[in-house]
Amino acid sequence: MEDIFENTVLCNNCNSRTDKIITIKDNFQLRKWLCKKCNKEWYHPGDLQEYNEFKELKNRKFQVKLRKVGNSHTISIPREIIQFEEEFEKAINELLDISLEEPRKLSIYFSRRIKLIKPGEEKD
Ligand SMILES: [Zn+2]
Repeated sequence: MEDIFENTVLCNNCNSRTDKIITIKDNFQLRKWLCKKCNKEWYHPGDLQEYNEFKELKNRKFQVKLRKVGNSHTISIPREIIQFEEEFEKAINELLDISLEEPRKLSIYFSRRIKLIKPGEEKD
């Protein structure tokens, strides 16, 4: 199915053609249309919905128990977090990168793929 972002959108204020822009908020990629004439912008509704779900999860504090299994330790990752990104569910039985990012902070990387921003796209 074609994404609505493929379409050319006209500004409902001045009828000018809008520019398609990819913007980054909280490390989250959001597409939007921008009218340079009146500085009005519209976020992609799907991206905005996903961003809001992300923000809700990000602000939520989960508590998990650390368990000892042989010489290692394990934790359970809450279902809500795994279900949020397809990438997480696909990672079952995959090797993940894990690193001690700072004292008392452990990070798990579900993907080594980095989303690239094309030249000319703004960052805010
Ligand atoms: Zn306009």
